[in-house]
Amino acid sequence: MTEKVAVVGGGIAGVGAAWSLHRAGYEVELFEKGPALGGNAKTFRWTVGDGHADSPLLVVAWPQMYYHNYESLLDELGVGIETLPISYFVQTPDGHFCQDGQTAVQQRFAPEFRRWRKLVAFVTKVNDVFLPKNKHDSMYHFSYFNPMNLIPLYWLARLFGISSAFWDTIFVPIHCASFITTSMRSVPAVILPLLESIVPLEEPTQMGTWEGAPRQVFDRMTAPFADKVHTDHEITSVKRRNGHFVIGDAQGRTYEADRVVFACDATSVLNAIESPSWLQRLLFGNAQYVDDVDPTFARFVVHSDTSIFPEKHRERILSDFNTYSEIDEVGALECTFVISAQNPSIKDKGVPMLVTFNSKKAIGKVQKRIELPHPTHTMSLRNLLIMSMMRFLQGKDGMHYCGTFTTPEGGHDLSFMSGLVAAHEIGAPYPFSQDNPSAVADFNQMQRIMLKSGTRRLL
Ligand SMILES: Cc1cc2nc3c(=O)[nH]c(=O)nc-3n(C[C@H](O)[C@H](O)[C@H](O)COP(=O)(O)OP(=O)(O)OC[C@H]3O[C@@H](n4cnc5c(N)ncnc54)[C@H](O)[C@@H]3O)c2cc1C
Repeated sequence: MTEKVAVVGGGIAGVGAAWSLHRAGYEVELFEKGPALGGNAKTFRWTVGDGHADSPLLVVAWPQMYYHNYESLLDELGVGIETLPISYFVQTPDGHFCQDGQTAVQQRFAPEFRRWRKLVAFVTKVNDVFLPKNKHDSMYHFSYFNPMNLIPLYWLARLFGISSAFWDTIFVPIHCASFITTSMRSVPAVILPLLESIVPLEEPTQMGTWEGAPRQVFDRMTAPFADKVHTDHEITSVKRRNGHFVIGDAQGRTYEADRVVFACDATSVLNAIESPSWLQRLLFGNAQYVDDVDPTFARFVVHSDTSIFPEKHRERILSDFNTYSEIDEVGALECTFVISAQNPSIKDKGVPMLVTFNSKKAIGKVQKRIELPHPTHTMSLRNLLIMSMMRFLQGKDGMHYCGTFTTPEGGHDLSFMSGLVAAHEIGAPYPFSQDNPSAVADFNQMQRIMLKSGTRRLL
């Protein structure tokens, strides 16, 4: 008899797991708390004249050289990819910085930029000693023995003569949009070369984005089992009864399944499962999310009010920059994604499409204010420990887990792969051709991160 699998959470991890399981012949039922699939990869519909235009809102781009499995998915679904120039504009009380080597702020920090380059070269050398050479096009391979895993980047930078003013004025405003937090002092030094290869501090870069909005990805993935996708279903209880699971939602509806894949946040898992074990309590009760440490990215305003940008640079910001960060006198940071400068399909619609986090000013032309509980988990030693212990729970009593708290950092490719690994552990084959060695190596590495050696089926 076909096994029935319930998947809780309709972000890329849950939809990835359900998609892979359905292809492999499993009966899947997918439950999403919100009104649409996508999780953080939200699609927003803007009013444009008499019509509308869809755009991504939060998850906007990815480093193409590393997202091997996610790009295989888009290829399989026939979703086009565009290349997007990525550049940052930082406004400080003392002037602005925009990666062009020209501004007064950049001149002021010139000696520290030189030290920064030395620091990057140093960490790269150390990492090279520990990392196999053939793993350099992967974000996910690391050595447990590399001392750079334990040394915070901030403190190493200070040792190299880099000031905390440089950290707060240059590093944090540029990288807060990647880490979704301004609290980055515990980020380990090991990731510096990776960061520089994705978002170099001193020059603009390029990333991939969808031709269109992310909704099409979720629609195409779920089209073959659309009747089994339940949005507006918040799962509040998961109970084991006579060898089956009985899954209940906030409105009292119940469903049955043989296995459950949790692809939601750790708090929701802990609240839903009946009589959690001590290990489940320990791991799900302690996972740390960015809003636990820093509320900067916990709520945002979707709007078209360009008066939030300094008048002198307004036109340029609107056309050339993807991210605008503004630091005030007390060091608080407001961050705006300039969506209409990013996505080629909406660039010329004539409507400024802006998403402002931690807004400090009165914003007009508001389309929507959104709270984002548990946007993603933080890269902390505590979370890395939780992640590495999750292997002792994976698959136990028919319950599987994927999504951000099972991965080393927040990232669309990581979450997608975690869903594939959960599906693979249940029995679904790897869904792509094995001709792409980088994608296969990443998937195998994800299995090593998530599963006990006895349950891994490396390709
Ligand atoms: C502001 C922001 C910007 C980002 N930008 C990028 C980017 O540009 N590129 C990139 O690669 N990554 C980016 N990320 C990271 C990326 O969003 C994540 O890594 C990935 O999309 C997370 O997918 P997920 O499925 O693990 O979790 P989520 O997307 O969080 O999905 C979890 C889903 O579970 C649902 N859920 C929760 N509880 C329940 C319940 N009880 N019952 C049913 N459903 C439930 C939630 O509603 C949600 O839809 C960004 C993250 C944020 C917050």
